[in-house]
Amino acid sequence: MQLPVTTLQGYNTPFYYYDLELLRATLKAVNNEINGTPFIVHYALKANANPVILREIVQAGLGADLVSGNEVKAALEAGFQPCKMAYAGVGKTDWEIETGIDNDIYCFNVESVPEMEVINEIAAKRGKTAGIAIRVNPNVDAHTHRYITTGTTENKFGIDIPVLDEVIDKALSLPNIHLRGLHFHIGSQITEMEPYRLLCEKTNELLDHFGSRGITFEMVDMGGGLGVDYQNPEKNSIARFKEFFDVFKQHLHVRPGLKVHFELGRSIIAQSGALVARVLYVKENSAKKFVILDAGMTDLIRPALYSAHHKIVNLTSQASAIETYDVVGPICESSDVFGHDEQLPLTKRGDLVALLTAGAYGESMASRYNMRNLPQSYFSIDK
Ligand SMILES: *Cc1c(COP(=O)(O)O)cnc(C)c1O
Repeated sequence: MQLPVTTLQGYNTPFYYYDLELLRATLKAVNNEINGTPFIVHYALKANANPVILREIVQAGLGADLVSGNEVKAALEAGFQPCKMAYAGVGKTDWEIETGIDNDIYCFNVESVPEMEVINEIAAKRGKTAGIAIRVNPNVDAHTHRYITTGTTENKFGIDIPVLDEVIDKALSLPNIHLRGLHFHIGSQITEMEPYRLLCEKTNELLDHFGSRGITFEMVDMGGGLGVDYQNPEKNSIARFKEFFDVFKQHLHVRPGLKVHFELGRSIIAQSGALVARVLYVKENSAKKFVILDAGMTDLIRPALYSAHHKIVNLTSQASAIETYDVVGPICESSDVFGHDEQLPLTKRGDLVALLTAGAYGESMASRYNMRNLPQSYFSIDK
């Protein structure tokens, strides 16, 4: 991404800066891959729901993948079409379900039988039919990576395959439910394609199985999770969309009339955002040198929460000497560390520092812990 240092110098730190040209190029890369296919991509708002970002994504024609009632509202306000909205989550409250039904969203991704019954009841009271997909736990481990995995029987998401027949029968029996298809989401920051190939195989088996029972679906939703390159963001500023979609083009048996949905969050927005902070102090003790930033885990929690690492660059130092620093935030928590033993040019108070690849799960996870202000956001194109 482009970081125009002179412009950035004029803003109060810490803030998120978004390169909308890179976002547009990313969206174009996605659309190029799905052009002429039955594939439909929904953007997962939880990665970043900044209204300016959402407007760009609406303009590119993507749908919305939602995980709360307020996300449904934000998607409506941003101009996403309800017929391109899917709402997932293990714990939807009644008002959240009502919001979805009242706005005629395309489907609820249902995670349990009790939830399905409540959706049916609420829809009946309103004289409506609610579209649903059953979220299946395919027991596919995204184990090529140690990050978050959501598609194994060890976790709370989805419905296990052994009870799927029963659950599908139940869905078909409820009068105010319209069963649209099956939904999967196996995890996040997945950098190998093998788990997706296994997911295609599982999906083929399930479609064959239900086909032999005379049950056909209008759609299957393969979820999201495509990873991005946190180590070399400059080199790989656009995610591996071709490789990703090719797996499904090659391995998923798409019957005529079947639509294939995807829910991408991180891979759409991560590389287009950076968290920009100022160096408050450089502090030295007997063991280490610390660079203390005015941004902390309240602005970007991924390092503290998942031991994630964002590439750190000093935007203003002209020094040729390289030093080793721990780069930390100001929050009263030992986990408020952005990097250990970072090699940076000689750094001093007042320098501007950027944490790259921070567009996804950055601003959207910011908190007011320590009563701090939420970070501001700025864009490469004036809004
Ligand atoms: C978080 C989430 C996504 C998006 O995941 P990414 O890793 O950001 O692509 C998609 N679908 C569901 C159900 C999710 O919870």
